[in-house]
Amino acid sequence: MGDAAIVGSGPNGLAAAVTLARAGLRVAVYEAAADIGGGLRTQPLFDPEITHDICSAVHPMAAASRFFREFGLAARGVELLTPAVSYAHPLDGGRAALAHRDLGTTCAGLGPDGERWRRLMGPLVRHGEGVVDFLLSGQRALPRDPVAPLLLAPRILVHGTRLGAARFAGEAAPALLTGVAAHAVGELPSLAGGAVAALLGQLAHGPGWPLPRGGSGRIAEAMVDDITAHGGTFHPGRAIGDLRELGGYRAVLLDTGVPGLLDIAGRALPDRYARALRRFRYGPAAAKADFLVSEPIPWADPAVGRAGTVHLGGTHAELAREETRTARGVRSRAPFVLLVDPAVTDPGRARPGRRPVWAYAHVPNGDDTDPVELIRSRVETYAPGFGDTVLAARGMSGRGLEAYDANDVGGDIGSGAMTVWQGVARPVARLDPYRTPVPGLFLCSSATPPGPGVHGMCGYLAALSALRHRFGIREVPSLAPVA
Ligand SMILES: Cc1cc2nc3c(=O)[nH]c(=O)nc-3n(C[C@H](O)[C@H](O)[C@H](O)COP(=O)(O)OP(=O)(O)OC[C@H]3O[C@@H](n4cnc5c(N)ncnc54)[C@H](O)[C@@H]3O)c2cc1C
Repeated sequence: MGDAAIVGSGPNGLAAAVTLARAGLRVAVYEAAADIGGGLRTQPLFDPEITHDICSAVHPMAAASRFFREFGLAARGVELLTPAVSYAHPLDGGRAALAHRDLGTTCAGLGPDGERWRRLMGPLVRHGEGVVDFLLSGQRALPRDPVAPLLLAPRILVHGTRLGAARFAGEAAPALLTGVAAHAVGELPSLAGGAVAALLGQLAHGPGWPLPRGGSGRIAEAMVDDITAHGGTFHPGRAIGDLRELGGYRAVLLDTGVPGLLDIAGRALPDRYARALRRFRYGPAAAKADFLVSEPIPWADPAVGRAGTVHLGGTHAELAREETRTARGVRSRAPFVLLVDPAVTDPGRARPGRRPVWAYAHVPNGDDTDPVELIRSRVETYAPGFGDTVLAARGMSGRGLEAYDANDVGGDIGSGAMTVWQGVARPVARLDPYRTPVPGLFLCSSATPPGPGVHGMCGYLAALSALRHRFGIREVPSLAPVA
């Protein structure tokens, strides 16, 4: 037996394992699925030469978070390819709004709203690292850059409420911003949406919204290599159902959702804590579709074909209305769809006449409908003829996603609704949200702050808590690649 067991091998489980192994502990990672990686898996679905990202595809947070800055993906051979157009937002009439990585080019394309966009994003970009470190931290410590929260507060209060859209004169800028806010997956406008729009919006003009060359699985591989090189072991195909299975370890870190924590720790959890966990709420689901297509997507506005990520949701008003309906449990006929044609950024992902397309729609939590037709028709609205290019498709409903990864409760890819309260008091209100009342038991998944996304920060912060409280190690280990 080793010092610490990690249950679940998603990016947070792996980040926790890296951190503990680098502190000199012997770690073992248990994973229910046959493959390591959780939300970081890339595999062929229809054609052995064409790989698909099953969950995450685009990595602005992996490019910027403190964990990955210290881990150093590039030095480990993971090449983050950054498109010049971070994201595009098609509108009616064959037009589209574009968020270029270059802020000036973006502003120039937004007509009367260009200057307002510059005033909104410019200061955030200049304090980009501080903004990332503040929002991807859990807000338990003083901000490294005290200007960051001062810049964020007024922007979130305006653009997280109805005041925001009224600040713009045209249609393009509010649609662009609302498309980014929709990554919070919930009612819009909302303060959580405003925070997500500020975080991801400024990253689009800073480090960008990159894709790892070869797919998201490359990030998991680099983490697995580091853990193995520092003595860690992996046990795929091993679902843990009870804490007693891991009795020999001094610390157990669960990269599971809240239901996983309740199941695994069971009666060991004090009633009050267990009751608080049961009050944790879940957000709408993602319903995923993977396509194999014969050619690049025939967008009505060809400029969309240069974007790494595409948001399909129409105007600010349409998007806010449909996201709110979805969050309230009503199935939309025109839901928000996120789409990535990976070969736009990473041409190596395509072969002549064959390329992957990754997309998901927001649907009510627990929805069990195959989303392929819904997503196909949504893409057709802005890219007539898309359906004719589809060679094969596979859908995964919200429920299907939960069957694939138990952390996505009802298809909620955030492992819990992203509200301002649940962003901080995640999964319950505690000074140290990673430490449970059971000695040696920690939660390290995205059900803890700072929440969803591939940034590794939940696992990193949980591991630092375990080092301090279980092993008496206060020194923060170096994560840098060892020559
Ligand atoms: C369709 C989809 C698209 C997404 N797109 C993006 C994106 O483009 N960019 C981005 O940054 N984020 C994206 N995300 C979100 C991102 O993938 C997650 O926020 C992230 O993976 C969460 O990491 P995690 O380690 O907390 O949990 P997960 O990645 O969910 O990993 C948890 C792991 O624990 C395992 N597990 C659970 N219970 C047990 C048990 N009892 N025993 C053993 N193993 C167990 C699961 O099998 C799983 O492998 C997406 C998610 C989905 C589903």
